[in-house]
Amino acid sequence: MENISNIGTTSDPYRPSLFELIAQERMRELLQPALRYILTVYAQRYPRYLLRVFNYSDEIYSLLMLIIEGHYLHVWQSSFAENFYGLKRVAVVDKETRAKLSPSQKRLSLFFLIGMPYIKQKLDESYEKLTGGAAAHIFGSLFDADSDRPENETMTQRIKRLGRNAFRHSYPYVNGIYNAAIFAYQIVYIYGKTDYYSPWLHFSRTAIQRISQKDLDEHEQSRKLTAAARSSALQSASGIGQMRHFIIRQISRGLDFLRYALPMSIFFLKFIEWWYASDYHKQKAFQPIPPPPDPIPPHPQGTPLPPESDTCPLCKRERTNSTTIPTGYVFCYPCIFAHVSENERCPVTLVPVKVDELRKIYSVT
Ligand SMILES: [Zn+2]
Repeated sequence: MENISNIGTTSDPYRPSLFELIAQERMRELLQPALRYILTVYAQRYPRYLLRVFNYSDEIYSLLMLIIEGHYLHVWQSSFAENFYGLKRVAVVDKETRAKLSPSQKRLSLFFLIGMPYIKQKLDESYEKLTGGAAAHIFGSLFDADSDRPENETMTQRIKRLGRNAFRHSYPYVNGIYNAAIFAYQIVYIYGKTDYYSPWLHFSRTAIQRISQKDLDEHEQSRKLTAAARSSALQSASGIGQMRHFIIRQISRGLDFLRYALPMSIFFLKFIEWWYASDYHKQKAFQPIPPPPDPIPPHPQGTPLPPESDTCPLCKRERTNSTTIPTGYVFCYPCIFAHVSENERCPVTLVPVKVDELRKIYSVT
């Protein structure tokens, strides 16, 4: 596997290939749409409670990820997705020496994992809004730079307008530089010339390595030690202390369980996407609606139809409590109920009808 995926020839067996790094990044990018989808489903089901929550789904997602990534950085020295791919973060001390992440490196990691994507997303959204998004591509000059210039603008309005224009003109370049920097680092990384596969990791002097057997043993040992410390603390603790220990343990178990639950949510989302994109689903959706059946003609020996449509064929008066039967004709409820319970057939067409097939028609006027 390593021989195939490592283009850059480096002797370090713990150096991950770019493909592993990109795979974990892709996985992290998929988490947000997956969680958003789950939230959408529940917001539709319980709109009263969740619709307001849904409007802040980006913020909620960032907050959730802050807890999750914080936990994984603390326990595994890696982000959630890195951990899933068997990778961890190490501090680069010098060319050869690697150490555990310092607290400030962990904070920087959190910022680059969650804060920066959040800010970038919000900037992307406001750029879309300012330029008119897809509409601008269609209508072109409608969204011209000076189109929002009011007649006599105040100083603050002018500053805001110029600020918006400056943002609109400069943001594509900023975005371009951002993506070019990431791309350049990836190219250099692939040829083994750097230990950092992104500029942010370089900035925080953090490298990514494969998790070794030694790491796994150490993790297992520290886990046992914590468990032992917890149980001894639990025995000496008071009622409230025991409660606190119990809650902490459940939360940490829940966070560990996410390792299985979050990838599952991605597979679920991918399945849903496939389902709605597949031909199988489309076949059903694009079937033409069958034409309505021909009306059943009145039987020659049946009750004749009155000339006015709001008259009951049975009592020949204006209909009250309009009620229909499967043959499609409408009568007063008392008339048709009496008729069907006695004759068990439609008075107009003489087609067999049962009492429980009577349907009340509600008028909105
Ligand atoms: Zn009637």
